[in-house]
Amino acid sequence: MHTKNEIVTLTIQDITHEGMGVGHTEDGMAVLVPRTAVGDELQVRLVKVNRRFAYGRIERILSPSPHRIEPDCPVSHRCGGCVFRHVSYAAELQYKERFVQENLRRLGGWQGQVEPILPSPKVDGYRNKAQYPIRLQRGQVTAGFFAPRSHEVVDCRNCRLQPKDFGEILEQVLEFAEEAGLVPYQEETGTGDLRHVYLRCGEQTGEKMVCLVVNGTCLPHAQALVERLTRFDPRIVSIQVNFNTKNTNVILGPHTQVLYGKGTIMDRLCGLEFDLSPHAFYQVNNMAAQMLYQLAAQYAQLSGKETLLDLYCGAGTIGLSMANQCARVIGVEIIPQAVENAKINAKRNGVENAEFYCGDAAQAALMLQEQQIRPDVVILDPPRKGCEDTLLETIVEMAPDRIVYISCNSATLARDCKRLTELGYQLERCRPVDLFPRTSHVECVVLMSKVKE
Ligand code: SAH
Repeated sequence: MHTKNEIVTLTIQDITHEGMGVGHTEDGMAVLVPRTAVGDELQVRLVKVNRRFAYGRIERILSPSPHRIEPDCPVSHRCGGCVFRHVSYAAELQYKERFVQENLRRLGGWQGQVEPILPSPKVDGYRNKAQYPIRLQRGQVTAGFFAPRSHEVVDCRNCRLQPKDFGEILEQVLEFAEEAGLVPYQEETGTGDLRHVYLRCGEQTGEKMVCLVVNGTCLPHAQALVERLTRFDPRIVSIQVNFNTKNTNVILGPHTQVLYGKGTIMDRLCGLEFDLSPHAFYQVNNMAAQMLYQLAAQYAQLSGKETLLDLYCGAGTIGLSMANQCARVIGVEIIPQAVENAKINAKRNGVENAEFYCGDAAQAALMLQEQQIRPDVVILDPPRKGCEDTLLETIVEMAPDRIVYISCNSATLARDCKRLTELGYQLERCRPVDLFPRTSHVECVVLMSKVKE
Protein backbone atom coordinates (compact mmCIF):
# COMPACT_ATOMS: atom_id res chain seq x y z
CA MET A 1 0.00 0.00 0.00
CA HIS A 2 1.18 3.47 -0.83
CA THR A 3 0.36 6.61 1.06
CA LYS A 4 0.15 10.31 0.38
CA ASN A 5 3.48 12.17 0.68
CA GLU A 6 5.47 8.97 0.27
CA ILE A 7 8.56 9.41 -1.93
CA VAL A 8 9.03 6.81 -4.67
CA THR A 9 11.69 6.35 -7.34
CA LEU A 10 10.59 5.68 -10.90
CA THR A 11 11.34 6.11 -14.58
CA ILE A 12 8.83 7.81 -16.91
CA GLN A 13 7.85 5.34 -19.64
CA ASP A 14 4.95 6.98 -21.41
CA ILE A 15 2.89 10.17 -21.72
CA THR A 16 -0.90 10.30 -21.31
CA HIS A 17 -3.25 12.22 -23.59
CA GLU A 18 -3.24 15.02 -21.02
CA GLY A 19 0.52 15.27 -21.29
CA MET A 20 1.30 13.62 -17.95
CA GLY A 21 4.23 11.26 -17.62
CA VAL A 22 3.54 7.71 -16.47
CA GLY A 23 5.95 5.64 -14.43
CA HIS A 24 5.56 2.61 -12.18
CA THR A 25 6.57 2.00 -8.59
CA GLU A 26 8.60 -1.13 -7.81
CA ASP A 27 5.41 -3.00 -6.95
CA GLY A 28 3.81 -1.97 -10.22
CA MET A 29 1.48 0.90 -9.33
CA ALA A 30 1.17 3.53 -12.08
CA VAL A 31 2.04 7.08 -11.07
CA LEU A 32 1.09 10.09 -13.19
CA VAL A 33 3.50 12.98 -12.95
CA PRO A 34 3.02 16.29 -14.77
CA ARG A 35 5.83 18.09 -16.64
CA THR A 36 7.96 15.03 -17.12
CA ALA A 37 9.50 13.39 -20.19
CA VAL A 38 9.93 9.80 -21.30
CA GLY A 39 13.22 8.57 -19.85
CA ASP A 40 13.24 10.84 -16.78
CA GLU A 41 14.52 9.05 -13.69
CA LEU A 42 12.80 10.70 -10.78
CA GLN A 43 12.12 10.86 -7.12
CA VAL A 44 8.41 11.55 -6.94
CA ARG A 45 6.22 12.62 -4.04
CA LEU A 46 2.80 10.99 -4.15
CA VAL A 47 0.18 13.71 -3.82
CA LYS A 48 -2.96 11.66 -4.35
CA VAL A 49 -3.23 7.89 -4.05
CA ASN A 50 -6.16 6.10 -5.69
CA ARG A 51 -6.88 2.39 -5.64
CA ARG A 52 -5.09 1.60 -8.88
CA PHE A 53 -2.89 4.58 -9.58
CA ALA A 54 -1.49 7.72 -7.98
CA TYR A 55 -0.65 11.29 -8.89
CA GLY A 56 2.80 12.51 -8.05
CA ARG A 57 5.00 15.59 -8.16
CA ILE A 58 8.66 15.72 -9.05
CA GLU A 59 10.70 15.82 -5.87
CA ARG A 60 14.09 15.44 -7.56
CA ILE A 61 15.28 14.67 -11.07
CA LEU A 62 17.85 11.91 -10.68
CA SER A 63 18.62 11.72 -14.37
CA PRO A 64 16.86 13.90 -16.96
CA SER A 65 15.38 12.55 -20.18
CA PRO A 66 17.27 13.53 -23.34
CA HIS A 67 13.92 14.96 -24.53
CA ARG A 68 14.08 17.77 -21.99
CA ILE A 69 14.67 21.39 -22.95
CA GLU A 70 14.57 24.59 -20.88
CA PRO A 71 10.91 25.80 -20.78
CA ASP A 72 10.64 29.22 -22.43
CA CYS A 73 7.46 30.47 -20.77
CA PRO A 74 7.38 31.72 -17.19
CA VAL A 75 3.76 30.73 -16.57
CA SER A 76 3.42 27.45 -18.49
CA HIS A 77 3.48 25.42 -15.28
CA ARG A 78 0.49 27.36 -13.92
CA CYS A 79 -1.57 28.11 -17.01
CA GLY A 80 -1.66 24.48 -18.06
CA GLY A 81 -2.11 25.22 -21.76
CA CYS A 82 1.35 24.13 -22.87
CA VAL A 83 1.98 20.76 -21.30
CA PHE A 84 5.02 20.19 -23.54
CA ARG A 85 7.06 23.39 -23.01
CA HIS A 86 9.76 21.37 -21.29
CA VAL A 87 10.40 18.84 -24.09
CA SER A 88 11.69 19.26 -27.63
CA TYR A 89 9.12 19.54 -30.39
CA ALA A 90 10.46 16.31 -31.90
CA ALA A 91 9.75 14.46 -28.64
CA GLU A 92 6.27 16.00 -28.41
CA LEU A 93 5.47 14.74 -31.92
CA GLN A 94 6.59 11.24 -30.94
CA TYR A 95 4.36 11.29 -27.85
CA LYS A 96 1.35 12.48 -29.84
CA GLU A 97 1.79 9.95 -32.60
CA ARG A 98 2.07 7.23 -30.02
CA PHE A 99 -1.09 8.08 -28.16
CA VAL A 100 -3.17 8.29 -31.33
CA GLN A 101 -1.80 4.87 -32.28
CA GLU A 102 -2.50 3.50 -28.80
CA ASN A 103 -6.08 4.81 -28.72
CA LEU A 104 -6.92 3.33 -32.10
CA ARG A 105 -5.49 0.01 -31.03
CA ARG A 106 -6.86 -0.13 -27.49
CA LEU A 107 -10.22 1.61 -27.91
CA GLY A 108 -10.75 1.10 -31.61
CA GLY A 109 -9.48 -2.45 -31.92
CA TRP A 110 -7.44 -1.46 -34.97
CA GLN A 111 -4.35 -3.49 -35.83
CA GLY A 112 -2.98 -1.06 -38.45
CA GLN A 113 -0.21 1.51 -38.21
CA VAL A 114 -0.83 5.25 -38.14
CA GLU A 115 1.10 7.21 -40.75
CA PRO A 116 3.85 9.52 -39.44
CA ILE A 117 2.46 12.61 -37.68
CA LEU A 118 2.56 15.82 -39.73
CA PRO A 119 4.25 18.59 -37.73
CA SER A 120 2.91 22.13 -37.62
CA PRO A 121 4.86 24.57 -39.83
CA LYS A 122 4.83 27.02 -36.91
CA VAL A 123 5.46 25.94 -33.34
CA ASP A 124 5.02 29.36 -31.70
CA GLY A 125 2.62 32.19 -32.54
CA TYR A 126 0.49 29.88 -34.63
CA ARG A 127 -2.90 30.68 -33.11
CA ASN A 128 -5.21 33.07 -34.93
CA LYS A 129 -7.62 33.44 -32.04
CA ALA A 130 -7.39 34.33 -28.36
CA GLN A 131 -10.06 34.79 -25.74
CA TYR A 132 -8.63 36.41 -22.64
CA PRO A 133 -10.79 36.35 -19.53
CA ILE A 134 -10.55 39.65 -17.62
CA ARG A 135 -10.93 39.42 -13.86
CA LEU A 136 -10.14 41.36 -10.73
CA GLN A 137 -7.97 39.14 -8.56
CA ARG A 138 -6.42 40.32 -5.30
CA GLY A 139 -7.13 43.90 -6.36
CA GLN A 140 -5.31 43.50 -9.71
CA VAL A 141 -6.77 43.49 -13.20
CA THR A 142 -5.82 40.06 -14.47
CA ALA A 143 -5.92 39.03 -18.14
CA GLY A 144 -4.79 35.70 -19.45
CA PHE A 145 -6.00 32.13 -19.23
CA PHE A 146 -7.92 30.02 -16.77
CA ALA A 147 -5.73 27.65 -14.79
CA PRO A 148 -6.75 24.01 -15.33
CA ARG A 149 -10.04 23.03 -13.66
CA SER A 150 -10.29 26.38 -11.93
CA HIS A 151 -11.80 29.84 -12.10
CA GLU A 152 -8.45 31.41 -11.34
CA VAL A 153 -7.01 33.46 -14.20
CA VAL A 154 -3.27 33.18 -14.72
CA ASP A 155 -2.05 36.57 -15.88
CA CYS A 156 -0.44 36.11 -19.27
CA ARG A 157 -0.55 38.85 -21.85
CA ASN A 158 2.19 37.58 -24.13
CA CYS A 159 1.36 33.96 -24.65
CA ARG A 160 3.87 32.36 -27.01
CA LEU A 161 1.13 30.51 -28.87
CA GLN A 162 -0.46 33.80 -29.95
CA PRO A 163 0.93 36.28 -32.45
CA LYS A 164 2.99 39.00 -30.69
CA ASP A 165 0.60 41.79 -31.56
CA PHE A 166 -2.29 40.12 -29.73
CA GLY A 167 -0.63 41.04 -26.44
CA GLU A 168 -0.23 44.65 -27.59
CA ILE A 169 -3.87 44.91 -28.67
CA LEU A 170 -4.94 43.40 -25.36
CA GLU A 171 -2.97 46.13 -23.52
CA GLN A 172 -4.73 48.78 -25.62
CA VAL A 173 -8.12 47.38 -24.69
CA LEU A 174 -7.18 47.24 -21.00
CA GLU A 175 -5.98 50.85 -21.09
CA PHE A 176 -9.25 51.85 -22.72
CA ALA A 177 -11.21 49.91 -20.11
CA GLU A 178 -9.43 51.72 -17.32
CA GLU A 179 -10.04 55.13 -18.89
CA ALA A 180 -13.67 54.31 -19.57
CA GLY A 181 -14.14 53.12 -16.00
CA LEU A 182 -15.01 49.56 -17.04
CA VAL A 183 -14.58 47.11 -14.20
CA PRO A 184 -13.55 43.47 -14.72
CA TYR A 185 -16.33 40.93 -14.41
CA GLN A 186 -16.77 39.03 -11.17
CA GLU A 187 -18.22 35.59 -11.51
CA GLU A 188 -19.24 35.21 -7.86
CA THR A 189 -21.51 38.24 -7.88
CA GLY A 190 -22.23 38.53 -11.60
CA THR A 191 -21.13 42.16 -11.41
CA GLY A 192 -18.55 44.16 -13.36
CA ASP A 193 -18.45 45.05 -17.04
CA LEU A 194 -15.67 43.44 -19.06
CA ARG A 195 -15.71 39.63 -19.25
CA HIS A 196 -13.45 38.71 -22.13
CA VAL A 197 -11.30 40.25 -24.82
CA TYR A 198 -11.64 38.16 -27.96
CA LEU A 199 -9.08 38.62 -30.75
CA ARG A 200 -8.99 36.93 -34.10
CA CYS A 201 -6.72 37.46 -37.10
CA GLY A 202 -6.51 36.22 -40.65
CA GLU A 203 -3.12 34.55 -40.84
CA GLN A 204 -2.94 34.96 -44.62
CA THR A 205 -4.53 38.41 -44.87
CA GLY A 206 -3.41 40.17 -41.69
CA GLU A 207 -6.98 41.32 -41.00
CA LYS A 208 -7.77 41.56 -37.31
CA MET A 209 -10.94 41.49 -35.25
CA VAL A 210 -11.35 42.79 -31.72
CA CYS A 211 -14.46 41.83 -29.82
CA LEU A 212 -15.15 42.87 -26.23
CA VAL A 213 -17.48 40.60 -24.32
CA VAL A 214 -19.36 42.71 -21.78
CA ASN A 215 -21.75 42.00 -18.96
CA GLY A 216 -24.41 44.49 -20.00
CA THR A 217 -26.44 45.81 -22.90
CA CYS A 218 -24.12 48.53 -24.23
CA LEU A 219 -20.48 49.53 -24.24
CA PRO A 220 -19.93 53.03 -22.81
CA HIS A 221 -17.39 55.24 -24.62
CA ALA A 222 -17.37 52.86 -27.59
CA GLN A 223 -16.15 55.64 -29.89
CA ALA A 224 -13.01 56.09 -27.79
CA LEU A 225 -12.25 52.39 -28.17
CA VAL A 226 -12.70 52.57 -31.93
CA GLU A 227 -10.44 55.63 -32.21
CA ARG A 228 -7.76 54.10 -30.03
CA LEU A 229 -7.68 50.74 -31.80
CA THR A 230 -7.84 52.01 -35.37
CA ARG A 231 -5.06 54.47 -34.60
CA PHE A 232 -3.02 51.73 -32.96
CA ASP A 233 -3.31 49.22 -35.79
CA PRO A 234 -4.98 49.92 -39.14
CA ARG A 235 -5.23 46.21 -39.79
CA ILE A 236 -7.96 46.02 -37.18
CA VAL A 237 -10.85 45.94 -39.63
CA SER A 238 -13.60 44.83 -37.29
CA ILE A 239 -14.40 46.01 -33.77
CA GLN A 240 -17.37 44.45 -32.06
CA VAL A 241 -19.02 44.15 -28.71
CA ASN A 242 -20.78 41.02 -27.59
CA PHE A 243 -23.30 41.05 -24.77
CA ASN A 244 -23.23 38.22 -22.26
CA THR A 245 -25.09 38.77 -19.00
CA LYS A 246 -25.53 35.11 -18.11
CA ASN A 247 -23.72 33.41 -15.27
CA THR A 248 -22.04 30.83 -17.51
CA ASN A 249 -18.60 29.84 -18.69
CA VAL A 250 -19.73 30.05 -22.31
CA ILE A 251 -17.74 33.02 -23.58
CA LEU A 252 -20.00 34.64 -26.16
CA GLY A 253 -23.58 35.74 -25.58
CA PRO A 254 -26.13 35.58 -28.39
CA HIS A 255 -25.97 39.25 -29.47
CA THR A 256 -23.11 41.10 -31.09
CA GLN A 257 -22.94 44.70 -32.23
CA VAL A 258 -20.47 45.97 -34.79
CA LEU A 259 -18.81 49.16 -33.52
CA TYR A 260 -16.47 49.64 -36.45
CA GLY A 261 -15.82 48.10 -39.84
CA LYS A 262 -17.17 44.74 -40.86
CA GLY A 263 -18.86 42.04 -38.81
CA THR A 264 -16.33 39.52 -40.08
CA ILE A 265 -12.69 39.23 -41.02
CA MET A 266 -11.39 37.48 -44.08
CA ASP A 267 -8.76 34.78 -44.23
CA ARG A 268 -7.48 32.47 -46.93
CA LEU A 269 -7.36 28.72 -46.55
CA CYS A 270 -6.59 26.15 -49.27
CA GLY A 271 -6.76 28.87 -51.91
CA LEU A 272 -10.23 30.07 -50.88
CA GLU A 273 -11.36 33.18 -49.05
CA PHE A 274 -13.37 32.85 -45.86
CA ASP A 275 -15.40 35.43 -43.96
CA LEU A 276 -15.48 34.69 -40.26
CA SER A 277 -17.79 36.10 -37.64
CA PRO A 278 -16.80 35.87 -33.97
CA HIS A 279 -19.21 32.95 -33.57
CA ALA A 280 -17.94 30.81 -36.43
CA PHE A 281 -15.62 27.93 -35.70
CA TYR A 282 -12.37 28.25 -37.60
CA GLN A 283 -9.24 26.18 -37.10
CA VAL A 284 -6.82 28.20 -34.99
CA ASN A 285 -3.68 27.12 -36.83
CA ASN A 286 -4.09 28.16 -40.45
CA MET A 287 -1.05 26.54 -42.03
CA ALA A 288 -1.45 23.23 -40.23
CA ALA A 289 -5.19 23.28 -41.00
CA GLN A 290 -4.36 23.50 -44.71
CA MET A 291 -2.25 20.39 -44.32
CA LEU A 292 -5.10 18.71 -42.48
CA TYR A 293 -7.65 19.55 -45.17
CA GLN A 294 -5.30 18.50 -47.96
CA LEU A 295 -4.83 15.18 -46.24
CA ALA A 296 -8.61 14.83 -45.82
CA ALA A 297 -9.03 15.57 -49.55
CA GLN A 298 -6.43 12.96 -50.39
CA TYR A 299 -8.26 10.39 -48.24
CA ALA A 300 -11.60 11.37 -49.85
CA GLN A 301 -10.25 10.34 -53.31
CA LEU A 302 -12.67 12.52 -55.21
CA SER A 303 -13.00 12.12 -58.96
CA GLY A 304 -15.40 14.97 -59.72
CA LYS A 305 -18.57 12.90 -59.75
CA GLU A 306 -19.25 12.50 -56.05
CA THR A 307 -21.83 13.87 -53.67
CA LEU A 308 -19.94 14.94 -50.57
CA LEU A 309 -21.69 15.30 -47.23
CA ASP A 310 -19.74 17.59 -44.89
CA LEU A 311 -21.15 17.09 -41.38
CA TYR A 312 -20.20 19.55 -38.61
CA CYS A 313 -19.08 21.90 -41.36
CA GLY A 314 -18.58 25.14 -39.37
CA ALA A 315 -18.07 27.99 -41.84
CA GLY A 316 -17.87 25.46 -44.67
CA THR A 317 -14.11 25.30 -44.93
CA ILE A 318 -13.66 21.60 -45.61
CA GLY A 319 -16.52 21.07 -48.06
CA LEU A 320 -15.75 24.27 -49.96
CA SER A 321 -12.08 23.37 -50.26
CA MET A 322 -13.16 20.11 -51.95
CA ALA A 323 -16.08 21.50 -54.00
CA ASN A 324 -14.05 21.71 -57.20
CA GLN A 325 -13.20 18.01 -56.90
CA CYS A 326 -16.76 16.70 -56.62
CA ALA A 327 -20.25 17.17 -58.07
CA ARG A 328 -22.14 18.36 -55.04
CA VAL A 329 -21.37 19.44 -51.48
CA ILE A 330 -23.93 19.35 -48.69
CA GLY A 331 -22.82 20.93 -45.42
CA VAL A 332 -24.55 20.67 -42.04
CA GLU A 333 -23.77 22.79 -39.00
CA ILE A 334 -25.68 23.65 -35.83
CA ILE A 335 -24.60 27.27 -35.27
CA PRO A 336 -26.74 29.59 -37.43
CA GLN A 337 -24.05 32.29 -37.82
CA ALA A 338 -21.55 29.71 -39.05
CA VAL A 339 -24.07 28.45 -41.63
CA GLU A 340 -24.59 32.04 -42.80
CA ASN A 341 -20.81 32.40 -43.09
CA ALA A 342 -20.63 29.15 -45.04
CA LYS A 343 -23.25 30.34 -47.56
CA ILE A 344 -21.50 33.66 -48.01
CA ASN A 345 -18.18 31.86 -48.30
CA ALA A 346 -19.56 29.69 -51.09
CA LYS A 347 -20.73 32.78 -53.01
CA ARG A 348 -17.53 34.70 -52.36
CA ASN A 349 -15.51 31.87 -53.90
CA GLY A 350 -17.86 31.31 -56.82
CA VAL A 351 -18.76 27.83 -55.58
CA GLU A 352 -22.13 26.90 -57.06
CA ASN A 353 -22.38 23.23 -56.14
CA ALA A 354 -22.51 23.63 -52.36
CA GLU A 355 -25.55 23.93 -50.11
CA PHE A 356 -25.59 24.39 -46.35
CA TYR A 357 -28.15 23.49 -43.73
CA CYS A 358 -28.47 24.57 -40.14
CA GLY A 359 -29.29 21.78 -37.73
CA ASP A 360 -28.12 18.88 -35.67
CA ALA A 361 -25.94 16.51 -37.70
CA ALA A 362 -27.87 13.38 -36.64
CA GLN A 363 -31.27 14.88 -37.46
CA ALA A 364 -30.10 16.43 -40.71
CA ALA A 365 -28.59 13.12 -41.83
CA LEU A 366 -31.93 11.39 -41.18
CA MET A 367 -33.71 14.06 -43.18
CA LEU A 368 -31.28 13.73 -46.09
CA GLN A 369 -31.66 9.99 -46.00
CA GLU A 370 -35.45 10.34 -46.18
CA GLN A 371 -34.92 12.49 -49.27
CA GLN A 372 -33.03 9.55 -50.81
CA ILE A 373 -29.77 11.47 -50.89
CA ARG A 374 -26.90 9.06 -51.21
CA PRO A 375 -23.51 10.66 -50.50
CA ASP A 376 -20.46 8.92 -51.95
CA VAL A 377 -18.20 10.40 -49.33
CA VAL A 378 -19.09 11.62 -45.84
CA ILE A 379 -16.80 13.98 -43.95
CA LEU A 380 -17.18 13.95 -40.18
CA ASP A 381 -15.55 16.65 -38.08
CA PRO A 382 -17.40 16.61 -34.75
CA PRO A 383 -16.51 18.36 -31.48
CA ARG A 384 -14.50 16.45 -28.85
CA LYS A 385 -17.36 14.26 -27.73
CA GLY A 386 -17.53 12.60 -31.14
CA CYS A 387 -20.63 11.43 -33.02
CA GLU A 388 -23.92 10.17 -31.69
CA ASP A 389 -24.62 6.53 -32.29
CA THR A 390 -27.80 7.35 -34.22
CA LEU A 391 -25.78 9.48 -36.62
CA LEU A 392 -23.32 6.66 -37.29
CA GLU A 393 -26.24 4.32 -37.96
CA THR A 394 -27.87 6.77 -40.37
CA ILE A 395 -24.60 7.25 -42.22
CA VAL A 396 -24.17 3.52 -42.60
CA GLU A 397 -27.69 3.29 -44.00
CA MET A 398 -26.76 5.94 -46.56
CA ALA A 399 -23.91 3.58 -47.51
CA PRO A 400 -21.21 6.01 -48.66
CA ASP A 401 -18.12 4.39 -50.19
CA ARG A 402 -15.85 6.33 -47.90
CA ILE A 403 -16.01 8.12 -44.58
CA VAL A 404 -13.29 10.62 -43.79
CA TYR A 405 -13.33 11.34 -40.08
CA ILE A 406 -11.40 14.33 -38.75
CA SER A 407 -11.06 14.44 -35.01
CA CYS A 408 -9.37 16.37 -32.23
CA ASN A 409 -10.02 13.56 -29.76
CA SER A 410 -8.54 10.22 -30.71
CA ALA A 411 -10.41 8.46 -27.88
CA THR A 412 -13.91 9.29 -29.17
CA LEU A 413 -12.59 8.83 -32.71
CA ALA A 414 -11.49 5.29 -31.83
CA ARG A 415 -14.84 4.55 -30.19
CA ASP A 416 -16.74 5.76 -33.28
CA CYS A 417 -14.43 3.89 -35.67
CA LYS A 418 -15.02 0.73 -33.70
CA ARG A 419 -18.78 1.23 -34.05
CA LEU A 420 -18.44 1.88 -37.79
CA THR A 421 -16.35 -1.27 -38.06
CA GLU A 422 -19.17 -3.25 -36.45
CA LEU A 423 -21.54 -1.69 -38.98
CA GLY A 424 -19.58 -2.74 -42.05
CA TYR A 425 -16.75 -0.27 -42.59
CA GLN A 426 -13.06 -0.79 -42.25
CA LEU A 427 -10.39 1.57 -41.06
CA GLU A 428 -7.93 2.00 -43.92
CA ARG A 429 -5.65 4.86 -42.97
CA CYS A 430 -5.01 7.22 -40.12
CA ARG A 431 -2.62 10.11 -39.80
CA PRO A 432 -2.21 12.57 -36.93
CA VAL A 433 -1.63 16.23 -37.78
CA ASP A 434 -0.28 18.54 -35.09
CA LEU A 435 -2.48 21.61 -35.11
CA PHE A 436 -1.73 22.50 -31.52
CA PRO A 437 2.03 22.41 -30.80
CA ARG A 438 3.06 22.55 -27.15
CA THR A 439 -0.43 21.64 -25.93
CA SER A 440 -1.75 18.15 -25.28
CA HIS A 441 -4.11 18.36 -28.26
CA VAL A 442 -3.64 16.69 -31.61
CA GLU A 443 -5.86 16.33 -34.66
CA CYS A 444 -6.09 13.27 -36.83
CA VAL A 445 -7.69 12.09 -40.02
CA VAL A 446 -9.05 8.63 -40.60
CA LEU A 447 -10.22 6.99 -43.79
CA MET A 448 -12.85 4.29 -43.52
CA SER A 449 -14.25 2.44 -46.47
CA LYS A 450 -17.29 0.27 -46.98
CA VAL A 451 -16.48 -3.40 -46.85
CA LYS A 452 -17.56 -4.99 -50.14
CA GLU A 453 -19.91 -7.93 -49.73
N1 SAH B 1 -15.50 21.40 -40.11
C1 SAH B 1 -15.33 22.71 -39.54
C2 SAH B 1 -15.75 22.82 -38.08
C3 SAH B 1 -15.34 21.72 -37.15
S1 SAH B 1 -15.61 22.02 -35.43
C4 SAH B 1 -13.92 23.19 -39.75
O1 SAH B 1 -13.03 22.41 -40.04
O2 SAH B 1 -13.67 24.39 -39.62
C5 SAH B 1 -17.10 21.22 -35.09
C6 SAH B 1 -18.31 21.99 -35.55
O3 SAH B 1 -19.46 21.20 -35.22
C7 SAH B 1 -18.52 23.34 -34.90
O4 SAH B 1 -18.71 24.30 -35.91
C8 SAH B 1 -19.81 23.16 -34.07
O5 SAH B 1 -20.60 24.32 -34.04
C9 SAH B 1 -20.52 22.07 -34.84
N2 SAH B 1 -21.48 21.24 -34.09
C10 SAH B 1 -21.46 20.90 -32.79
N3 SAH B 1 -22.46 20.06 -32.48
C11 SAH B 1 -23.15 19.85 -33.64
C12 SAH B 1 -24.28 19.05 -33.98
N4 SAH B 1 -24.92 18.32 -33.06
N5 SAH B 1 -24.70 19.06 -35.25
C13 SAH B 1 -24.05 19.80 -36.20
N6 SAH B 1 -22.97 20.57 -35.93
C14 SAH B 1 -22.52 20.60 -34.67
